[in-house]
Amino acid sequence: MTALPSDRSESAFADYKDPLTTVQAVAEANRCLYCADAPCIKACPTGIEIPEFIRKISTGNVKGSARTIFEANILGMSCARVCPVEVLCVGDCVYNEMDSPPIQIGKLQRYATDMAFEKGWTFFTAGADTGKSVALIGAGPASLAAAHYLRRAGHRCTIYEKNALPGGLNTTGVAPYKMRAERSLQEVQWILGIGGIDVVTGMTVGKDITWEALEKKHDAVFIGMGLGADSRLGVPGENLAGIHGAVDFIEKMKVGKVDITKVKRAAVIGGGNTAIDAVRELAGLGIDEVLLVYRGDEPGMSGYAHEWEVAKLDGVRPLWRSLPLEFMGSGSVQSMRYTRVDAAKRPIAGSEADIAVDLVLLAIGQAKLGELLAGLAGLKVDKGRVIVDAEGFTGRKGYYAGGDCANGGKEVVNGAAEGKAAAMAIDKYLSSSAKAAAGARHG
Ligand SMILES: Cc1cc2nc3c(=O)[nH]c(=O)nc-3n(C[C@H](O)[C@H](O)[C@H](O)COP(=O)(O)OP(=O)(O)OC[C@H]3O[C@@H](n4cnc5c(N)ncnc54)[C@H](O)[C@@H]3O)c2cc1C
Ligand code: SF4
Repeated sequence: MTALPSDRSESAFADYKDPLTTVQAVAEANRCLYCADAPCIKACPTGIEIPEFIRKISTGNVKGSARTIFEANILGMSCARVCPVEVLCVGDCVYNEMDSPPIQIGKLQRYATDMAFEKGWTFFTAGADTGKSVALIGAGPASLAAAHYLRRAGHRCTIYEKNALPGGLNTTGVAPYKMRAERSLQEVQWILGIGGIDVVTGMTVGKDITWEALEKKHDAVFIGMGLGADSRLGVPGENLAGIHGAVDFIEKMKVGKVDITKVKRAAVIGGGNTAIDAVRELAGLGIDEVLLVYRGDEPGMSGYAHEWEVAKLDGVRPLWRSLPLEFMGSGSVQSMRYTRVDAAKRPIAGSEADIAVDLVLLAIGQAKLGELLAGLAGLKVDKGRVIVDAEGFTGRKGYYAGGDCANGGKEVVNGAAEGKAAAMAIDKYLSSSAKAAAGARHG
């Protein structure tokens, strides 16, 4: 596997949320009310038995606690760091209704799973070989969760990944103050520790290997290819140096180096979670002035309010109801012309203005990759998103999908949940096709 450079830009960031000590973890675990029919479990897409893992921490059974977490979610270590718990498990803790601070579920999950990694505890072994094999497209959270479950069921797995590094956006996208790339790569190795999952990196399915070739080699296919390139605005000057797609820039910062030494003022265009991550990251890298340029207003942002509050504390300034019209500069970007827009996001005539900027990140969405699947009869794609049923089945025999390419772009924990659900359905499909083949032989 490609090594990460030690001097990469993300090294500038420390953890935003401190880990708990043992004393703190036990004290916090003892606050849990162990609700029957706990709402936090329902709020977790992977359905972790949260009161059970917390009770085990309170009794000193940290290994048992980690097992409870990983049984439900093999990406429990990264999820503990990256889940937006404020709108998931912690947001539904009953303490919120009682004017008391909610249980710090993410931090407790981190305590147990970090200890599992430090101690080298492993919990799962591969099932007896079924002779079947599954191709998984992309080495992100969805495919990793699917492959791990499939190995436990005894199927061989090959993950095809176009990047040099596995882990998907957990490695290349997640803000470094939540989790750095090396931690994601450690998690990948830990998951692969079950044995029998091959990862072929630098291999783009549909380009370096055809779907027909995959079908010949494997008995089922899981599509976990995530989303595509950053969307562009389509305005003049957008190709000037210094203007980047936000996801592309974040990847360079996480696994390599970005040069921001001469940047005085940066603008991030967008109002979603990627835009908020990007402004926080630019401020954290030390850029003096960071602007968030959004065509809506504060209540209309799709990004999480709790993250935006922190961005404001970091000194980020908003430019609400503003839409870039053109970027200007000789060789590289030096300024941006923008217009104000009304509540219906229509430009207001005469409101145009110029502002000096020397770095611009476009965080206005990512392309969907469904067109890669054109020609696979039976498989439905809607505006680039792969259409699946509740079990991840695509409509084409043997083809399943999950994660961002199917849900349109959610969270790591959704990818983990959907990958596992699809793997359970693939296991049923492979078992029933094996039984049918045996029946045909004996019939
Ligand atoms: C900037 C950013 C920050 C984020 N921060 C958070 C966060 O803090 N918390 C959180 O929970 N979620 C976060 N997310 C969302 C989260 O990262 C995704 O929901 C999750 O990674 C989806 O997993 P996935 O496996 O579906 O896709 P991905 O993680 O995108 O993995 C897909 C993989 O498929 C590969 N691939 C694509 N096409 C092909 C092909 N043709 N052949 C082979 N390989 C291919 C890609 O290279 C990639 O490695 C963030 C997303 C972004 C963009
Ligand atoms: S996986 Fe995420 S949502 Fe589920 S319990 Fe853990 S931190 Fe909460």
